Amino acid sequence: MKRLIDKLHQEQMLTAEEFHRLLANRSEETDQYARELANQVRQEVYGNKIYVRGLIEFTNYCKNDCYYCGIRRSNQNAQRYRLTEEDILECCRQGYELGFRTFVLQGGEDGFFTDDRIVQIVRKIKEQYPDCALTLSIGEKSEESYRAYREAGADRYLLRHETADPRHYMRLHPLEMSGENRKSCLRILKKLGYQTGAGFMVGSPLQTVDDLVEDFLFLKELDPEMVGIGPFIAHQDTPFCNERSGTLDDTLFYLALLRLMLPNVLLPATTALGTIHPRGREMGVLSGANVVMPNLSPVSVRKKYMLYDGKICTGDEAAECRMCLSRRMERIGCEVVTDRGDYKKRLA
Ligand code: SAH
Repeated sequence: MKRLIDKLHQEQMLTAEEFHRLLANRSEETDQYARELANQVRQEVYGNKIYVRGLIEFTNYCKNDCYYCGIRRSNQNAQRYRLTEEDILECCRQGYELGFRTFVLQGGEDGFFTDDRIVQIVRKIKEQYPDCALTLSIGEKSEESYRAYREAGADRYLLRHETADPRHYMRLHPLEMSGENRKSCLRILKKLGYQTGAGFMVGSPLQTVDDLVEDFLFLKELDPEMVGIGPFIAHQDTPFCNERSGTLDDTLFYLALLRLMLPNVLLPATTALGTIHPRGREMGVLSGANVVMPNLSPVSVRKKYMLYDGKICTGDEAAECRMCLSRRMERIGCEVVTDRGDYKKRLA
């Protein structure tokens, strides 16, 4: 297996059959080997710098009904909220003061936020903070909508593909949603010049090794600037309430493989990873991740953006989250920087 890891490191690609072998024959030793190599590659590309993104969860209304997600429309227990434009700008103001130079607006697919409203918010943020990057993460939209946001100034877009296998996708989502549409959105986003983020949940119900092989092959083909992965964690008010969570070891191993396959990729150590283990995010960085995304949402709404049970940092002010992460990163020899943290195209 070490030979396959070396090959992935050198050639940044494996065949489907090789990925399958690598994913189906895990051992502590090869896991460790991949993670150390990936940590080295992260350092070669990004040094000891860790980029931060200020996450603003601006609405938990959602028209979709994804079986895994705590803010799905059928969850009657979710207390719905949406931030006003002023609230959002206030989050940015606080974030800017704390050194954030990327803001991520994430939310459910909320019809209240029409294209005009999104465009207006994007324009205002970019006007007030021209030195900041703005990322949207608001789901599947039409090409026209994506173009309008882009023209208004949005720089990046996060849209995890969730799983690359169409049959697995259908088991995680109701019939009206399709993996093909999601992939097609991702291709459009790339075409429109967004720095684009895809990604999948680790250990989502019924996930097989074959599904994961497809995830890696799809990501290689899409060649996104960002990849978000994190463990699936059950939410009590969803159809998957009794399903097991994704594991720490699996997540760290896949992070490592992603760093080896896409050396320059912007790879967050996610909140979900920090939720399943107190040092999850640190271990994520030491396995190749180079981004952290602390929460900038007002504390009053934090607990309402519950995608899964037990989500961490829902009681802390933005400043506390920022400092806590800086300290955590320092302890592992890294430094959180005040920087837009754009994708680095590697010199040949
Ligand atoms: N509506 C936006 C944002 C979705 S929430 C969109 O469609 O892209 C952001 C991510 O949280 C999702 O893409 C999903 O991968 C993750 N997520 C949702 N429910 C989860 C759960 N129960 N456990 C772990 N991750 C979850």
